[in-house]
Amino acid sequence: MKTMTESKALSKLNKLKSKYREFVKTNYEYKAQDCQTCPTKGACCLDAHFVNVHITKLEAVAIRQTLEKLSVEKQIEIYKRTKETVAKYDLKTDGDTFAKTFACPLFEKGVGCLVHKDAKPAPCISHACYENREDLPPDELQEEIENQIERLNKKTYRYAWTRLSLPVYLVLLNPFAKNSESK
Ligand code: SF4
Ligand code: SF4
Repeated sequence: MKTMTESKALSKLNKLKSKYREFVKTNYEYKAQDCQTCPTKGACCLDAHFVNVHITKLEAVAIRQTLEKLSVEKQIEIYKRTKETVAKYDLKTDGDTFAKTFACPLFEKGVGCLVHKDAKPAPCISHACYENREDLPPDELQEEIENQIERLNKKTYRYAWTRLSLPVYLVLLNPFAKNSESK
């Protein structure tokens, strides 16, 4: 398989996600509840019995780059919260990682999703609160985008892990940790 540089893959990932976001917005989201007027804003991201968002290393790098736009103090706070999430919900790199759920550490009170614009994971782009089940974007749509992201990830890192839960990957890539993969 031909390899790809990380910067090229990140640029492709960004384009892929933007296209997917626009597609979901145009074709499905207008049938869902408006998040702006939601009385329980963030319930979707903080529901520790529901959230099990998984990402590839490439997406984790995109998230890290997005967080780098924040102050160092804020970044340290977010990575600390992420580490606590991993410990609290016993999130691992092995076993049935999809079975473990967590409250997402990237949700910031008063702000919302900290990576909403630039690095939102595909399952989060797909997600909204729909009254009718038949209005939801079909699962195959998300599977297809996730497969495309995995292919980009493999071309970049030829990695053994394809997807891990979001907090686990962020802890692995924590730029402030001594044993971070980024060092
Ligand atoms: S996805 Fe649902 S729970 Fe989350 S903010 Fe939007 S309307 Fe509220
Ligand atoms: S990444 Fe953003 S949208 Fe997804 S669960 Fe976390 S805070 Fe919510």
